[in-house]
Amino acid sequence: MHIYPDAKAVVRALAPDEPVILNRPHAAARAARFFIEKFPGKTLYAVKANPTPELILALWEAGITHYDVASIAEVRLVRSLLPHAVLCFMHPIKASAAIAEAYHKHGVKTFSLDSVEELEKIINACRDPETGEPAADLRLAVRLRVSSEYSELSLASKFGCDLLEAPGLLQQTRQHADWLGVCFHVGSQAMSPFAFVQALDRTRAAIAEASVVIDMIDVGGGFPSIYPDLEPAPMEDYFAIIAKHFESLPIAYNAELWCEPGRALCAEYSSMIVRVEKRRSGELYINDGAYGALYDAAHVSWRFPVRALEDDLRDADEDFAFYGPTCDDADYMQGPFALPGDIQAGDYIEIGMLGAYGAAMKTGFNGFGTAEQVIVTDEPMASLYDGSRQRPDADNVVSLR
Ligand SMILES: *Cc1c(COP(=O)(O)O)cnc(C)c1O
Repeated sequence: MHIYPDAKAVVRALAPDEPVILNRPHAAARAARFFIEKFPGKTLYAVKANPTPELILALWEAGITHYDVASIAEVRLVRSLLPHAVLCFMHPIKASAAIAEAYHKHGVKTFSLDSVEELEKIINACRDPETGEPAADLRLAVRLRVSSEYSELSLASKFGCDLLEAPGLLQQTRQHADWLGVCFHVGSQAMSPFAFVQALDRTRAAIAEASVVIDMIDVGGGFPSIYPDLEPAPMEDYFAIIAKHFESLPIAYNAELWCEPGRALCAEYSSMIVRVEKRRSGELYINDGAYGALYDAAHVSWRFPVRALEDDLRDADEDFAFYGPTCDDADYMQGPFALPGDIQAGDYIEIGMLGAYGAAMKTGFNGFGTAEQVIVTDEPMASLYDGSRQRPDADNVVSLR
């Protein structure tokens, strides 16, 4: 990938007719180091948030050794890049063939499940193909359903066993695994550390009821990034509250604590340059949209930060909405996005904080979707990790019970 100082330099050099993704490996590495130093346990990277190979390599170099993969394609991708990484197959509903290939061919030992059917599927897929003996080295994590009430994007309804089923499933799973974990996901962009308190309370109830030995607690993803209107509490607050509640769980004395952030590790990694193709009063027709890297801007009205890349715009900022390039009316992003009032067709805009669920979402629908990728060395439009945000002290740690 070519390296430029910033988005303006890219526009000067390329005057790009198509969107350009700007990647900041230094920002991803900084996020990884932050988690490795401050999270009181092990940090996995949830690959689905952004599977760009250069990002995965940057995280590995920064010290991330474990990867949460959710499909056989993600297993193959990460294994091809990182022969020594530990891969954890954390999608609770997998195809038998995917489990078998992951276990027998790629050395995956850790799997999540939320039902007896999935437990049986895993046991059968991992049997020795010659002797039919069940695998003795499985590491299994039971996914609990927890509330998403503190999160911007819910993950509460699809996966996870409920509190009534959990004790039985934990007991059954324990019989097939020497190493048993509990995992959950509080929903993405959890705006309060209390999301994790609630989930860990549920975890406590399930473990107490099951009375089995638990070797690992995986608090999942959901750690926030910063966007306009979405300024979370300091990340240290999340870590402190998780540590506190983890320590009081009825689990093995040497039990491990894991987390598997996607967004928090990669949101700052990418931004994107788009061009205004037409202006219709307060609406800008740009060359990326709902079927490109701006899926969340269209589908959940996410407001990403923006800035104009022209030096000759003089007017004060006004609020704009965007239309994407496809012929679909739904290719619309209401924003509002604040840009100079005299912005016009032909001008370029940088849209920030697209590293998570942005660059990863691009499709080729309607013939749009190609984007060159380059590296830039400037700072992301916002950062949780550059030291500019407050560190927790007695006043702003939200009640450590
Ligand atoms: C998507 C996902 C993650 C990452 O979630 P973020 O909100 O991006 O941190 C982690 N674990 C699982 C099982 C997921 O499905």
